[in-house]
Amino acid sequence: MSMCPLDVAFRAERPHVVIIGGGFGGLATARALKDEPVRITLIDRRNHHLFQPLLYQVATATLPPGHIAAPIRGLLKEQDNVTVVLGEVTGILDEESTVNVALPEGKNLRVGYDYLVVATGAEHSYFGRDEFAQHAPGMKTLADALSIRQKILQAFEQAEAEGPLAKEGLLTFVLVGAGPTGVEIAGALAMLTRKTLKSSFRNIDPGSARIILVDMAPRILGSFEEELSEKARKHLEGLGVEVRLGQGIEQIDENGVMLGGERIASKNVIWTAGVAASPVGKWLKAETDRAGRVRIQGDLTVAGHRNIFVLGDTASLDQNGRPLPGVAQVAMQQGNYAGRLIGRRVAGQKDLPPFRYFDKGNMAVVAGRFAVVQSGKMKLSGLSGWLPWAAIHIAYLPLSNLRLSVLMQWVWTHVAGIRSSLLISQKSHDCKQNQGAVRLKKSA
Ligand SMILES: Cc1cc2nc3c(=O)[nH]c(=O)nc-3n(C[C@H](O)[C@H](O)[C@H](O)COP(=O)(O)OP(=O)(O)OC[C@H]3O[C@@H](n4cnc5c(N)ncnc54)[C@H](O)[C@@H]3O)c2cc1C
Repeated sequence: MSMCPLDVAFRAERPHVVIIGGGFGGLATARALKDEPVRITLIDRRNHHLFQPLLYQVATATLPPGHIAAPIRGLLKEQDNVTVVLGEVTGILDEESTVNVALPEGKNLRVGYDYLVVATGAEHSYFGRDEFAQHAPGMKTLADALSIRQKILQAFEQAEAEGPLAKEGLLTFVLVGAGPTGVEIAGALAMLTRKTLKSSFRNIDPGSARIILVDMAPRILGSFEEELSEKARKHLEGLGVEVRLGQGIEQIDENGVMLGGERIASKNVIWTAGVAASPVGKWLKAETDRAGRVRIQGDLTVAGHRNIFVLGDTASLDQNGRPLPGVAQVAMQQGNYAGRLIGRRVAGQKDLPPFRYFDKGNMAVVAGRFAVVQSGKMKLSGLSGWLPWAAIHIAYLPLSNLRLSVLMQWVWTHVAGIRSSLLISQKSHDCKQNQGAVRLKKSA
């Protein structure tokens, strides 16, 4: 293993803060340390910060991938106390205060720290049924969203080419999980199939595609008040989405799912149901909750480690007797807090009071310009929900050029009904396998 050459200098000069993860939590930590006398190394296995709340719009062909992601190096280029390293952290040696990093070229690096901030987010969880993963992809990264987009668009192309010979379930889409992501994909798929693709095909009616939203829970959008869940459900059903609640998926294979004892043929199953924390708990040998999230203290550190902070989706902290939700606001507020607290500890000042999450509210798009918003006692639905949803999502995009691009694309989509991302960029596996198997009739 090679030693990080920069690290030696960092430790000699100023306290070295190592941040793992350039998502919402890690980026907020780095920014909160902007004016502090520390040297920061931010390590991420991707070169970009991803705005996950709009990932579903990439998967359903509304936005191109470059509109919702930005290079971490570029976002921090004005902050000269930060060095960005592209690499995957594979372990933490807390007794030596170092992290192991696997670099893209296959080399390893050991980076020493005085303060460590772990903000590595979450992964998919299939609730112990990992075999579902190959037939029901989840969506956490740009690559995931692009492969889902590819699969959706390819299904229509295949159905158009094969006509009545098309496989059963080719145009049936099953969304497992009726939280915000499942609802948003179901609604966006309904708009895509019922409106955008309406006149583009000759042998099939894209509007006849079956969209099924499934959840074990008794209602969709369980984190919202019942009245808003109900409005969202009615809106989806009005667009032809089948909502199947109180039933679990028993089986998933390449041809479909078993749901409540019923077989549903589907070539397109998308998993949005569960999340599991990254392996930080194992690295730190720390106490975790049932989802594998590291239990942290009020100052966001791990018990027994005053200099190790864990935050965002990979941490578990109770407030008012309930665990904080895995949302971007929690990660950002915790990142800001951790950065400020490290600044105070470095300066030998008194600690901040324990972290308190300020809940600004909950919002989700159901379809088109229909969103639900809940903030304190305020409840909005429809266009009056979509306008604040759109304003807030644009405001939180990490760069001003992305804000402008997304705004223009939404105007284009909502006013003219045009989507700019209906591109299939790779040859599909199915398509290659079936080459030559279908003969189109010469005349109708
Ligand atoms: C599809 C989807 C939709 C969502 N919609 C919303 C929404 O509408 N509103 C909302 O508030 N929240 C939403 N969320 C949740 C929100 O995105 C997360 O709560 C938030 O991203 C958590 O921030 P984080 O910093 O903990 O992790 P992330 O933002 O996920 O960042 C983690 C970072 O760590 C890096 N990383 C992970 N492991 C390693 C490693 N071993 N080495 C190096 N780097 C590593 C990753 O590459 C990533 O950049 C959504 C999430 C998803 C997946």
